[in-house]
Amino acid sequence: MPRPVRHILGLSGGKDSTALAIYMRDRVPEIEYFFCDTGAELPETYEYLSKLEVYLGKEVVRLSSDRTFDHWLKIYRGTLPSPSMRWCTKVMKIDPLEKWIGSDKAVSYVGLRADEASRKGYASLKKNILSVFPFIEDGLELHDIEAILIESGIGKPSYYDWRSRSGCYFCFYQRKSEWIGLHDNHPDLFAKSVEYEQKKGFEDTASETQYNWSQGETLSELLARRNSIRERNRERHSAHLIDILDDNQGSDDFCSACHL
Ligand code: SF4
Repeated sequence: MPRPVRHILGLSGGKDSTALAIYMRDRVPEIEYFFCDTGAELPETYEYLSKLEVYLGKEVVRLSSDRTFDHWLKIYRGTLPSPSMRWCTKVMKIDPLEKWIGSDKAVSYVGLRADEASRKGYASLKKNILSVFPFIEDGLELHDIEAILIESGIGKPSYYDWRSRSGCYFCFYQRKSEWIGLHDNHPDLFAKSVEYEQKKGFEDTASETQYNWSQGETLSELLARRNSIRERNRERHSAHLIDILDDNQGSDDFCSACHL
């Protein structure tokens, strides 16, 4: 007898996929919720997922690589992931997800909104996975998503106070001002990011080349410029009336393919 089609919904730890989980809970009760856990997520993300699990009354399955980030970093000889060498998404997120689904037929519910329909997200190339976009199909935009989160009592993740998107604490897509936010909110994780940059603990296998998380400077150099970065951020904010903590207005590329 053929296996039944699975219904799956990937949570990124951000507001859109969370709102979609809330939106779909009673529409497709058999949905399996999952979260691709790199082991380097923000503590706020784990808290947010736990809160959501209580609301859904269901476990959010954690999918992770058999190996740690440190293992993969050694394999890549200390080459930090970057927009042009984005090995992290493949080995830490996409491979575990595709292994979990295997050859099962699955419908994957993706939280792209109607007002961002042109944005690219991850859509599996595997023929047994069909991606669907309920917010786009139903014409739901940012204000609808915010209403869903407020009405459910879940709200937005608390990291939105200082960072615009979910993802690894060391994500190379974060803005320079967000690195300062990481330093101020999680000094231990900032220090760990500095260690990765300095290749501490795997100097023996690392290549000689210097790799930085943030373009054009080390994290220590970035931190030394914190006042000018903050000032520039304020100017940008007032010049364009942009709420920099509204991820709808943020960098379009910021980890979009990590929002599975
Ligand atoms: S959040 Fe950033 S660092 Fe983490 S897997 Fe995604 S692209 Fe890579």
